[in-house]
Amino acid sequence: MDQDGLISGLRDLPGLRLGIMGGAFDPIHIAHLVTAQEALAEFNLDQVLFMPAGDPPHKSRKMAPAEFRYLLTEVATAGNPRFSVSRYEISREEVSYTVDTLEHLAGVVPPGTEMFFITGADAVLDILGWKDPARVLELSTFIAATRPGYDLSRLAGLLEKLRSTTVGLVPEARVKILEVPALSISSSMIRERLMAGKTVRYLVPDPVAYLIEKSGYYAATGPASG
Ligand code: ATP
Ligand code: MG
Repeated sequence: MDQDGLISGLRDLPGLRLGIMGGAFDPIHIAHLVTAQEALAEFNLDQVLFMPAGDPPHKSRKMAPAEFRYLLTEVATAGNPRFSVSRYEISREEVSYTVDTLEHLAGVVPPGTEMFFITGADAVLDILGWKDPARVLELSTFIAATRPGYDLSRLAGLLEKLRSTTVGLVPEARVKILEVPALSISSSMIRERLMAGKTVRYLVPDPVAYLIEKSGYYAATGPASG
């Protein structure tokens, strides 16, 4: 695996189908893994690259440090030979927009690679409503996974609006809806449970639960020192 997280045995595949799953992963939970696996299987992807976001420059809420979120993502995905984790966003000083990360990846993947950006029903609207959506859709096909509590009814309108800004590209054709088993789990919910001293067993992979407990991040008492 290299710095970008591309798996060595797969990186030179001609016509590589590369999934990218971005997120804070604060912490990673089983719905992230189920979504990535479902995308892998349904879209015949060769690998899914998890891309934990870097630390925000002005922390609006206390996020666990990027290195810790990265570590949890590594242990959560270690058992799957088609999952890997990139250090790209956490190693940068600036905030990474999806478009910047996709531009970077486009420069390092083998020629002929097709990129698929995997999101939940909430994040697809955020990303395509934000920075340079036309370019984002040029660089990747979106896989928008269903998520309990979020509906995709606003997506059609958003894509329609994007039509006027895209040349030679049909936005609707670049966003695929993926039905995933409904799991009403979020990182916020995991953090709240931990704050309240409740168990998160089976909501996150076991090694993630162990590391969270050991570190004290997310606990009401705060991280263990030393
Ligand atoms: P938070 O509550 O802190 O926002 P989260 O659970 O939404 O955490 P993120 O790191 O924000 O996790 O999300 C990373 C990606 O995973 C996003 O595209 C998000 O939509 C998707 N995702 C998260 N949880 C689910 C879920 N239960 N079902 C489908 N997609 C999900
Ligand atoms: Mg979220």
